[in-house]
Amino acid sequence: MAARLPDGLTATRPLVSVRGLTRRFGDRAVLDGLDLEIRHGEFVALLGRSGSGKSTLLRALAGLDREIEGDLTVTGSVAVAFQEPRLVPWKRVRANVALGLDVPDPDERARAALAEVGLAERADAWPLTLSGGEAQRASLARALVREPALLLLDEPFSALDALTRITMHRLVLDLWAAHRPAVLLVTHDVDEALLLAGRVLVLERGRIGHEWAVTVPRPRSRDHPGLTALRTQL
Ligand code: ADP
Ligand code: MG
Repeated sequence: MAARLPDGLTATRPLVSVRGLTRRFGDRAVLDGLDLEIRHGEFVALLGRSGSGKSTLLRALAGLDREIEGDLTVTGSVAVAFQEPRLVPWKRVRANVALGLDVPDPDERARAALAEVGLAERADAWPLTLSGGEAQRASLARALVREPALLLLDEPFSALDALTRITMHRLVLDLWAAHRPAVLLVTHDVDEALLLAGRVLVLERGRIGHEWAVTVPRPRSRDHPGLTALRTQL
């Protein structure tokens, strides 16, 4: 018979617990018995070749895929930001961020989230007038305003130029430090994975083929010499 755990110990349960996750398209198993755990507040990067199943895994974790096999438990709310910001063009930026938000003051919350990502003055703009970096900030605000326990980022910076990407790294680290969601960041960029994440996973043949902890201390964004120099220039 299982011993009853004191209440406090439930906090040590992983946020994400995946066992034997399989996703077939036709007779091809893109995810093939994948195991994964993510703890509350962890920053995890997921690498893998194009077509290795990274987005498929994120869709499953976001609850957007009903055709998965295996066990998947996420004990908290989930929000996703994609490579393309996917803003609704006929709604203003703040309305995009507030979309579907089930709180008494969605507009206020959206404005606060936009201020946090540095977009306060673009709250009333139309999405098509935003730069790529601004649209990605709006997409981050839309995810964060939901106060997710798990933030899924699917190559959010790939389409941005190098300088914008560096400022986005700083922003994501600041947001993570302030709110402490668990983050699963899909990226092609090994340096980005090592800079941001505490643990790096590689998706291979439908499973986590490699995994390592990042032992180099991550620069706090405000201490990073390159970023500090950039802050004064951008
Ligand atoms: P990644 O994000 O790692 O580049 P994806 O998860 O998008 O890879 O896709 C993994 C594989 O699954 C690819 O070969 C892709 O063509 C296939 N795939 C993804 N979605 C579908 C779908 N809805 N129908 C058929 N095949 C799909
Ligand atoms: Mg993908």
